[in-house]
Amino acid sequence: MFELLTERFSGIVEKLKRVKRLDEKTVEEALKDIRRALIEADVNIEVIKSFLDDLKQKLVGQEVIKGLNAGETVIKLIYDEVLNILGEEAPLQRSEKPPTVIMLVGLQGTGKTTTAGKLAKWLKSKGYKVGLVSTDVRRPAAGKQLCTLAKTIDVPCFIDEEEKDAVRLTEKVIQKAKEAGLSHIILDTAGRLHIDQELMDELVHIKEKVNPSEILYVADAMQGQDAISTAEEFHNRVGLTGVILTKLDGDAKGGIALSVRKVIGVPIKFIGVGEKIEDFQQFHPDRIAQRILGLGDIQTLLEKMQTAIDEKKAEEMAKRVMNAEFTLDDLKQQLQMIRNLGPLENVLKMIPGLGSKIKDLKVDEKQFIRIEAIINSMTPEERANPHIINGSRKRRIARGSGTTIMDVNRVLKQYKEMKKMMKKMKKSGKMKLPFNMPN
Ligand code: GDP
Repeated sequence: MFELLTERFSGIVEKLKRVKRLDEKTVEEALKDIRRALIEADVNIEVIKSFLDDLKQKLVGQEVIKGLNAGETVIKLIYDEVLNILGEEAPLQRSEKPPTVIMLVGLQGTGKTTTAGKLAKWLKSKGYKVGLVSTDVRRPAAGKQLCTLAKTIDVPCFIDEEEKDAVRLTEKVIQKAKEAGLSHIILDTAGRLHIDQELMDELVHIKEKVNPSEILYVADAMQGQDAISTAEEFHNRVGLTGVILTKLDGDAKGGIALSVRKVIGVPIKFIGVGEKIEDFQQFHPDRIAQRILGLGDIQTLLEKMQTAIDEKKAEEMAKRVMNAEFTLDDLKQQLQMIRNLGPLENVLKMIPGLGSKIKDLKVDEKQFIRIEAIINSMTPEERANPHIINGSRKRRIARGSGTTIMDVNRVLKQYKEMKKMMKKMKKSGKMKLPFNMPN
């Protein structure tokens, strides 16, 4: 899946990695390459337009992101835009009053029945009690196919071959499913080769009767833009809450995955990636975006940015230490940094004359956790003005943090000493180790 997009975008990323300056030519060229890639991948034309407009707007006047070079900055913005059109992750909605009803709708042959089985297995693996229901009164074979599938995954299946009214049938089986104490009921509704009024009316009536938490359109990814226009029609008539994209394993282009959210306005919730019942995944936009742009490349970028952010924080902290503005909140933040170790070195490295002493420090995790708990139990006012912490406040803080008054006193004393030392260092212009490490 997505082979074409991945190939094209990897080419764009490789080209950008060599770019040293963010100029107009780079931007124009990147936009042209992206446009070509999206058109080839059969992405909806309106989506391409909005993708390029948004990206262009961000790129104009964009400064190089801290930690990244010019080309990497463009790659990061492209990644953000891909994420933007894929939309946020959208978990399945649940009804407050069980059972949660999930309606699967779509045309015949898109993979609706297979998907009902896949979704039931997925929910079962999460510990839910799931039942499958076929509301197809016209094709008894459809119900049989569903129940055969249900057997293989060992979940109950409800059909009623006598009942020829889909709405009444749905009511009856929902009642049975309730009695069986199910948490989720998946309705495999009837499909048609083409959209027709009767089918739409039936779906609307079922919807009104059962008040489903989800109405998911099952779309065959290989049908490309046709699937999108059909989904739009279902959305207009029945109202969808999400899409399940099937047969992504056979779709090298991936245009539909990039178009659904923007065109229809509902999220993709799951993807089918093969004929087997376990070939089914929740749709994670970030993973898909990373797959399209090259997983390794994006992760490296995100890590570089994170390091830059940590360094900036460390730099600010060092400045505060040097100005002796150090509060209990700073101490807490510093302890948190120490627990991440990497950033601690960054903080200390920026304090002149300290580098060589870092090696000898021993870190006791429990001590840090206790100090953090004590600071957390203080009010913001107490953290900013520790001198107001009197006996009764100490008692409250000790109780709140599960420590003793002695522990609270120790933290306050250490903090006072640190602060005194910082003031001295500031006066003498010499920076020494700013605090005694707990032991
Ligand atoms: P329905 O008519 O919509 O209920 O469709 P079915 O569930 O009967 O599926 C139609 C065909 O699509 C079957 O041959 C399925 O095995 C196949 N199918 C369903 N989902 C997928 C998928 O994610 N990948 C592939 N390769 N085939 C799928």
